[in-house]
Amino acid sequence: MADADHAAWRRHLGEDVEPAALRERLTAGTLSACFAATAAERGDAPALEVDGAAASHGELDDRAARVAGFLRGRGVARGDRVLLCAPTSLELVVAYLGTLRAGATAMPCDAALTADELAHLLGDARPAAAFVARDAREHLDRVGRVTTVVAIGGPGDGGPALADALEARAIAPEPDPGPAMLAYTSGTTGRPKGVPLTHANVLASIRGAMLAWRWTADDVLVHALPLSHQHGLSGVHATLLAGSRAVVAGRFEPAVLCDAIAARRATVLFAVPAMYERLDEWEGIAGADLSSLRLAVSGSAPLSPALAERIAARLGQVPLERYGSTEAGLDVSNLYDGPRRPGRVGWPLPGIELRLAASESGDEASGGEILLRGPQVFGGYWHRPEATAEALSEDGWFRTGDLGRVDAQDGSLEITGRSKELIISGGLNVYPREVEIVLEEHPAVERVAVAGVPSERWGEEVVAFVVADGDLDAEALIALCRERLSAYKCPKRVVVLDELPVNRMGKVRRDALATMAGDGGD
Ligand code: AMP
Repeated sequence: MADADHAAWRRHLGEDVEPAALRERLTAGTLSACFAATAAERGDAPALEVDGAAASHGELDDRAARVAGFLRGRGVARGDRVLLCAPTSLELVVAYLGTLRAGATAMPCDAALTADELAHLLGDARPAAAFVARDAREHLDRVGRVTTVVAIGGPGDGGPALADALEARAIAPEPDPGPAMLAYTSGTTGRPKGVPLTHANVLASIRGAMLAWRWTADDVLVHALPLSHQHGLSGVHATLLAGSRAVVAGRFEPAVLCDAIAARRATVLFAVPAMYERLDEWEGIAGADLSSLRLAVSGSAPLSPALAERIAARLGQVPLERYGSTEAGLDVSNLYDGPRRPGRVGWPLPGIELRLAASESGDEASGGEILLRGPQVFGGYWHRPEATAEALSEDGWFRTGDLGRVDAQDGSLEITGRSKELIISGGLNVYPREVEIVLEEHPAVERVAVAGVPSERWGEEVVAFVVADGDLDAEALIALCRERLSAYKCPKRVVVLDELPVNRMGKVRRDALATMAGDGGD
């Protein structure tokens, strides 16, 4: 382990740590056994509220134990996959916790998947059971294959519903469970890949962040993130490990979120940059009482320095930006006690080792590919040996595909882009993020994504896709870039769009952009 990483952990923890002891502290136990231990201690304490439906730690534990008993009764065994495909609800969380407790592997999926997308995942993962809402049920029936299908959010159309599963006999957590999860990558650049995550992976990821962010049983978390993604689930994990409380909204609405923060005196907020953007634009934000928040976390996509500053003016704090991925969990974070420099994601979280691979282009300014290693990091893609060999070295380093630069003075990390998003224009490398940061400063730019569009002359040409705030003068935008960037990095064209194509986590879908260059006009 590099000395620099050790020093970074010390900064986060405020104490010296011996790597082997830290590893044990991060990975010990299973999620279900830890959640059960919390429930034994704080059974009556409120745990979770989802769109008004609430349960205490003890109630969640009892329901998870019954759902686990139901799955066991249906022959679901250790490591069998269990599909979870429904909009956010308390029932969905109970189904997830029951799956973990049975020692099976939860497979959380976005409730809005199309029939084709779901068919791909079912063929890939072959789940033994499924907890689904009505829409997904129709897709499932068409594809067939899953033997036990439990309805969530309503009656079971002849089959069992979650209420029936809750009638089963409670069972204790499986002592030697299979992988906790088969998570799927968000697939913004290709078909989603399955990422098996062990209980130790998931525990290390959230415990490292909880230590760094000083999480306690008194915390109250609010978020409106989908529970089909690690970001949203990590809030549930932290809550059930600490015995704290979480309020989750099924849909993001600034007013609803801010009301929940004020009503529950929330101390922690999890959100993605697109949500901070909408909070900042919401006319009620000035009157909202957000004074209870001790920590506002941003992750999953780049937080622009300009937005970080606007949010700081609203919340009285720069959001704490952190960086992570499905494959490697929560990896890098700014320090709880600051400094929080917008544009920087901070230092490796406890347990994580970070290094940069030498840049293939030898281009100093873009830094190198971010490599991560530690108990948080997965052990290989599901049934994809080639993708695994590409992504993981034999000694456990994960190639993230993200590019970064480490500050020579303080060792903090800046994300400069993704290697797959690299534009090669006239033989020269252009990193979209560098151009986006300049454009984000222009007052008429509400959101921007820069991408390469095939061009006979340049191979690829740099194009800026902009959502405008008022009148937008494309020439002025290009001129701003020319002041700040080398000519080859400046957009050749500006395409104005009503919305950027994004997935549910607010990540721009680069695959969709290039096709919009032709019909967006300029
Ligand atoms: P996912 O697997 O859906 O969590 O996506 C992980 C990817 O999101 C990373 O590989 C990064 O490209 C991106 N990402 C996550 N956090 C940040 C951040 N703070 N800044 C920039 N990109 C981020």
